[in-house]
Amino acid sequence: MEIKTDLCIGCGQCIIICPVQAIRLIDNKAIIDQDLCVECAVCYRDAGCPVNAIRLKRLKWPRIIRSPLSNVMATHKITGIPGRGTEEMKTNDVTNRFNTNEIGVSIELGRPGVGAHLRDIELFTTKLSRIGVEYEEQSPVTAIIIDKEGHIKDDIKDEFVLSAFIELKIPREKISQVLQIIRDVEEEIDTVFTVGIISRVKENNFDPIVKILSQQGFEIKPNAKVNIGLGKILK
Ligand code: SF4
Ligand code: SF4
Repeated sequence: MEIKTDLCIGCGQCIIICPVQAIRLIDNKAIIDQDLCVECAVCYRDAGCPVNAIRLKRLKWPRIIRSPLSNVMATHKITGIPGRGTEEMKTNDVTNRFNTNEIGVSIELGRPGVGAHLRDIELFTTKLSRIGVEYEEQSPVTAIIIDKEGHIKDDIKDEFVLSAFIELKIPREKISQVLQIIRDVEEEIDTVFTVGIISRVKENNFDPIVKILSQQGFEIKPNAKVNIGLGKILK
């Protein structure tokens, strides 16, 4: 993203809207810190710049990788999917991604206001790959994992994004190993992350994963999304 400083009148509208505080006023002109900018395009779309000074820049590799992981309107070139993750894991009653003996796990690194470097992904994926997990094929993050050891390309590690979702599934019996990895990474990582566990509730409303998580000391706040049949699977 770039701002034409000769046009800028310093109104500040883009500054308050930037989710990672990448824009500052210097001598009454808005300046973007290009290291912090995650290329989310929120300023371009929503700041309502009165003088049309905010411009989309043609991005080159590796910076171009910031856009699909930050801009909800961008379409990932490899997966062809718009948005920062895949179709919501919570709509499993439509997608059938996870069967009764499988657990879905999502780990979202970064948040608006914080962001994440892509190198943080490897802290998880190198450990998760060792125990054998199945990454979601359509996920933008899976598309940048380059080998069976869970590494990502060296030249994108310093790229900064709004957030990145690691999405995977495992057989139910591996959940304890995954939780241990998450606890280990918590000690090393330099950004925030949130974890989602997705499972099928049995007919009697019993969900064995709740018991496993409670036994491991996690406070569980189950939530559900009931689909009334208006969902659509993109083919
Ligand atoms: S593109 Fe996003 S991160 Fe970059 S300056 Fe604009 S609002 Fe901030
Ligand atoms: S919204 Fe436009 S005029 Fe206002 S500070 Fe940002 S770039 Fe400058």
